[in-house]
Amino acid sequence: MSGSIWFIMPNQTKYIFVTGGVLSGLGKGITVSSIGRILKEYGIKVTAIKIDPYINWDAGTMNPFQHGEVFVLEDGGEVDLDFGNYERFLDENLTSDHSITTGKVFYRVIEKERKGCYLGQTVQIIPHVTNEIKSLIRNVAENTRADVVLIEIGGTVGDIESMPFLEAARQMFIEEGPENVMFIHVTLVPQLSSTKELKTKPTQHSVKELRAAGIQPDMIICRSPIPLDKEHVEKIALYSNVPKKAVISAPDVENTYEVPLLLESQGVGEYIIRRLSLSPKKIPDFSSWKDFCERLKGPNGSVRIAIVGKYAKLKDAYLSVIEALKHAGAALGIRVCYEVLSSEKITRNNVENILREFDGIIVPGGFGQRGVEGKIEVIRYARENNVPFLGICFGFQLTVIEYARNVVGLKDAHSTEIDPNTPHPVIDLMEEQKRIEKYGGTMRLGGQKIIIKEGTLAYRLYGTKEIVERHRHRYEVNSRYIDLLESHGLIFSGTDESGERMEILELPDRAYFIASQFHPEFKSRPMKPAPLFYGLVKAAFERKQSSI
Ligand code: GLN
Repeated sequence: MSGSIWFIMPNQTKYIFVTGGVLSGLGKGITVSSIGRILKEYGIKVTAIKIDPYINWDAGTMNPFQHGEVFVLEDGGEVDLDFGNYERFLDENLTSDHSITTGKVFYRVIEKERKGCYLGQTVQIIPHVTNEIKSLIRNVAENTRADVVLIEIGGTVGDIESMPFLEAARQMFIEEGPENVMFIHVTLVPQLSSTKELKTKPTQHSVKELRAAGIQPDMIICRSPIPLDKEHVEKIALYSNVPKKAVISAPDVENTYEVPLLLESQGVGEYIIRRLSLSPKKIPDFSSWKDFCERLKGPNGSVRIAIVGKYAKLKDAYLSVIEALKHAGAALGIRVCYEVLSSEKITRNNVENILREFDGIIVPGGFGQRGVEGKIEVIRYARENNVPFLGICFGFQLTVIEYARNVVGLKDAHSTEIDPNTPHPVIDLMEEQKRIEKYGGTMRLGGQKIIIKEGTLAYRLYGTKEIVERHRHRYEVNSRYIDLLESHGLIFSGTDESGERMEILELPDRAYFIASQFHPEFKSRPMKPAPLFYGLVKAAFERKQSSI
């Protein structure tokens, strides 16, 4: 060894905090995902964190009516639907650590206090809670070794709930250095219905609010119904103290996958790269992303798919199902027009009228009694009329119930989730679930291995014997009924490794009739559609062509 000592500087992680102004639901998640996609095209390693300032530990116990679907990660994390956008745009699997909630932060602080980690101190929001937030963020940076960590702070600036998170972000700016931390503020620029004029005042106010929290934004992304003109850009730049080229116009688009292209056309990638002194590893190439966006428009035709569930009023409740349909459509060059229908009003008498105009049907996941009989009618209709059909999770379980009732002849067959006294519990609580008392995070969750039988439709679709798909359920096919169901023609083409838990069912004499206990939608990506969705869209298109 020579006398000289070499210090190897670790790669400095850069942090981009994304805040929201004026109101929620502006598409901050899509903005974060799009920025991530842009940086990825420059060869920069990115990851994303979502901060949800609610006291729930995670999204698992929340009603989809409030926040949209609960997205499930590979590691079983039940998280906000924005994670679906992150994974789809970044084409990367994220983990539960990327989801930071007030619940998780407070839980850790209180646990530490009880252990005596803060002996003698008064435990406070600053510094104890803010320290915990910063450590959770830095922990992700360390584990992923990403060049850039994007952090979306949920809610709107000014909310009491998000204050500790803004304060932690402000502190990180000081601690990491201004060259390593950047703030992007996403706001609304509304248009007056009377004069059609765009108004910048709400943006000015929300930037003021952000500054009151000690944060000066580096870039403002303006959501508006129409593009911003020069005059508005100048005004926002002046009042917000940001350069004009950092005021970005993000008007409404029909297809959210176009947002990365829209932002990049205004120089977002280059601006961030300069601001954070990043070193791009390649010349960005958006051609395959552009091609994907073109194919979404359906150069080869279109199909109509019905999604029949109980959360029909909020389309975000089925977000990943809808996106998976789009990915499958793009792979085939087919535009997928979908409609979310409520099963509550569907009966044997009206089912045909309601579904006649659709080329394919999905019965997605769900819980509880409401709308169940309508869904069962829909499944019967699909089976009897040979309409391409995909059942997911609860949809899989209801398909077993429909078959047991209408083909096997087991009158009143049901799931014990809905009817605990059914004479034929063809769907029953999983054995390990019977001992569980707590609700949060206790379902069978996340990526689990599935073995597919060769020679089946499932095998043709996946082209492999072993797959891993994401789950979220407590009930399953009751093993006592498997032989009986199979002797009447139902095929269980996928099981877990033990062979005892049913994972996929199909009817071989139908054009396309398949259902899975898992949720294939969670792993579908823009250029890697989920096989079960691909098969559905393809079969629906073939049916449509043959009926013309
Ligand atoms: N309610 C069913 C169960 O818990 C299905 C769940 C789902 O569709 N995600 O097993």
